[in-house]
Amino acid sequence: MKCILCNIPMKQYLCKNGYWIYRCPRCHLGETDLKRDYSSFVKEFYSQGYYEGDPTRSAYVSYESDKPLIVRNMRKFLSFIRDKKPAGTLLDVGCAFGYFVELSLSKGYDAYGFDPSGFASAEAGKLVGTSRIQNGTIQSVRYPKHSFDVITLFDVFEHLQDPLSDMKKLASLLKKDGVMLIATGDTRSIAAKLFRRKWTFYIPPQHIFFFHRKNVRELLQSASLKPRTWFRVGKWLSLGYVLHLARTTGENPVAGWIYAHIQNTFLMRLPLYVPMKDNMVIEVVKM
Ligand SMILES: [Zn+2]
Repeated sequence: MKCILCNIPMKQYLCKNGYWIYRCPRCHLGETDLKRDYSSFVKEFYSQGYYEGDPTRSAYVSYESDKPLIVRNMRKFLSFIRDKKPAGTLLDVGCAFGYFVELSLSKGYDAYGFDPSGFASAEAGKLVGTSRIQNGTIQSVRYPKHSFDVITLFDVFEHLQDPLSDMKKLASLLKKDGVMLIATGDTRSIAAKLFRRKWTFYIPPQHIFFFHRKNVRELLQSASLKPRTWFRVGKWLSLGYVLHLARTTGENPVAGWIYAHIQNTFLMRLPLYVPMKDNMVIEVVKM
């Protein structure tokens, strides 16, 4: 494993869910050794169970019933975007069930989305119309060059196979004065340092890359992009989702016990504000 930024060998950092995460000795970029072909992995992994509580996937308990909370979190991002670009074309990368596309349409944007998951993009097509949704990866989808005012990647950056090539492709789709908004985990956040291997963001195999401010800036520069604003956000999550993450990637048996006892009750949907702020939200523009 070589660092995609420094081109030097990475060292084994931690092993979780049977996968090794490697770390670059110079820039501290983390990368999961997927041990298999990315395209077949994506096809198989992001199936229905990923969105509906499959215990072998540290993902969503029920993406659909968590919609009110997911949209509540998205509103913060959209209000930031509206200050910068009050109207125009918008592309949501990794759009899942299309909730952000739907929200952006309701505020007057000409919004589109795509997702590598066949299941999720079909759901998104039902919600906002199939003409607005493509099924594919950043490299495989087709859009006219320089056609978007806004491109968003919420909790997507860490899932990419080749973030450098992917950022170059997205930069080619962005208008000259366009804005990109990226939300991903920060390996130098307090939570990451405190929880170390139990940090919920370390979820191989679906999380492949682990960045902090300095190395993500280097990556963006290599794609002729630059960060303009940084901020962190707390998140609204359902109790069921928090317990599911804690029992799987957090490796917490108590959470597993509670989850099993409240699994079929309304408590699963109880909203919680989690002020962990272990993420970085980056406004990105062209250089
Ligand atoms: Zn490096």
